[in-house]
Amino acid sequence: MNIEKLVRKNILKLIPYQSARRIGGDGDIWLNANESPNFDYFDLIDVSLNRYPEFQPKKLLDAYSSYVDVDVNTILITRGADEAIELLIKTFCNPLEDKIIFFPPTYDMYEISAKILGIESIGLPLLESFQLNIDLIVDNIFNVKLIYVCNPNNPTGNIVNAQDIIFLLELTLGKALIIIDEAYIEFCPIYSMVNLLKKYSNLVILRTLSKAFSLAGLRCGFILSNIKIIKVLSKVINPYPISIPVSEIASRALNKKNVDIMRKRVLDLNLNRIWLVQKLRLMKCVDTVFNSFSNYCLVRFFDSEIIFKELYSNKIIVRDQSKKINLHNCIRISIGSFFECQSVIRVIKKIDHIYKNFRG
Ligand SMILES: *Cc1c(COP(=O)(O)O)cnc(C)c1O
Repeated sequence: MNIEKLVRKNILKLIPYQSARRIGGDGDIWLNANESPNFDYFDLIDVSLNRYPEFQPKKLLDAYSSYVDVDVNTILITRGADEAIELLIKTFCNPLEDKIIFFPPTYDMYEISAKILGIESIGLPLLESFQLNIDLIVDNIFNVKLIYVCNPNNPTGNIVNAQDIIFLLELTLGKALIIIDEAYIEFCPIYSMVNLLKKYSNLVILRTLSKAFSLAGLRCGFILSNIKIIKVLSKVINPYPISIPVSEIASRALNKKNVDIMRKRVLDLNLNRIWLVQKLRLMKCVDTVFNSFSNYCLVRFFDSEIIFKELYSNKIIVRDQSKKINLHNCIRISIGSFFECQSVIRVIKKIDHIYKNFRG
């Protein structure tokens, strides 16, 4: 049987998300998925699994509500932020009618989710400063339902100007939703847009426990918005999106002690980033280290392929970004432990002398 005849046409053409796990590699030091380098153990005793879980486990809702200081009925728990990205398109976009926009270079899943669901997506490139091109957005706003803004942006690491986001919220009020993906906001919490949720009924914020909370393997995320939007999303999400073990562990990860541990880890990683950025800026093979507000930094080398291969052959796995729009010769390096950051510098230093001609 020719299975291709049965598969939806958009799926036949689809290039799936190139997750770090799918790309694989043989490494000792993993700096390609913005994961946390350290972890805590959570054991699960006294958990019975014969019953279905609560649709939205109350204990976890309460815990996240007190962590972000918003009302419980303005939160929806999801299977990671990735499920949230897709759920919004499923809920709000009419096929053959509505579009989404996103701003490359950015996180790939906005475009991939739209493609899977057969919804048109438009990538409007960021300016050279990695800020939004507002004129371009205004010119392309027709029939747009959802606008995905990643802040801080992955993989560039910068913060999107707040006045641009506010401009978009005003521009689209009553016509489209602005979705701010705050997957990395714990690394720069003062830039969160949470305080605007009360003012703008078209604002949606995505959160996750995968990054700063060191729980990528748990698969737990959150949508923050207003009661009306959470209600309609609740109609579409799976009947039991959060398994009992996930909600048990996530609730514990959000208690006061563990939130303090998370904040301490963020502090350490931010210091490691400052150290790594400073060392990289002294290297002759480095063209630019872009300012980052997150647990990774984007680096433009004079020849990123040589650097990638050298790190790879020393079992340090980083993320090649050089094929992405405006990111030629760029590599994204996740911020690991201090030892891991030192290892990156040690390996690059060994071949840095080749570049003596580039800089004085
Ligand atoms: C990692 C990441 C996600 C996915 O988060 P999960 O909760 O693990 O699904 C979403 N958005 C951005 C920008 C990310 O980098």
